[in-house]
Amino acid sequence: MELKKAKFCIDCEEIFEGENCPRCGERSVWRWLREWVIPLQKLTNRDAVRNSGLGCSSFDY
Ligand SMILES: [Zn+2]
Repeated sequence: MELKKAKFCIDCEEIFEGENCPRCGERSVWRWLREWVIPLQKLTNRDAVRNSGLGCSSFDY
């Protein structure tokens, strides 16, 4: 299952792909799973920006 296609059912915490949650069907209240997951690349970029001004001198050999 691809993250961009995965949905997360808020009612029964089911992760699924497709129109509706397989457990609660049409009543399902879902969100895109990708909205709940912070991509690792984003985290890495953010850390890189945050650390860029600090000069990681302790890691220079
Ligand atoms: Zn459900």
